[in-house]
Amino acid sequence: MIIPPELNGATIPGGCDDCTAEQGLAEVQPGIWTLNVRHDATCPTWRRIQQARGGSS
Ligand SMILES: [Zn+2]
Repeated sequence: MIIPPELNGATIPGGCDDCTAEQGLAEVQPGIWTLNVRHDATCPTWRRIQQARGGSS
């Protein structure tokens, strides 16, 4: 997958069916990209993720 460099730091709407999440795209190393989904605080899917991580915030 080729990602244009101007997308580094871009915010993309969507990524979760349960809230109005946004996805943050970032190039952490040349050619290595991460996509972090930022959920709403009230999102049930996000709560499940937090619980799966052991409940620490
Ligand atoms: Zn969500």
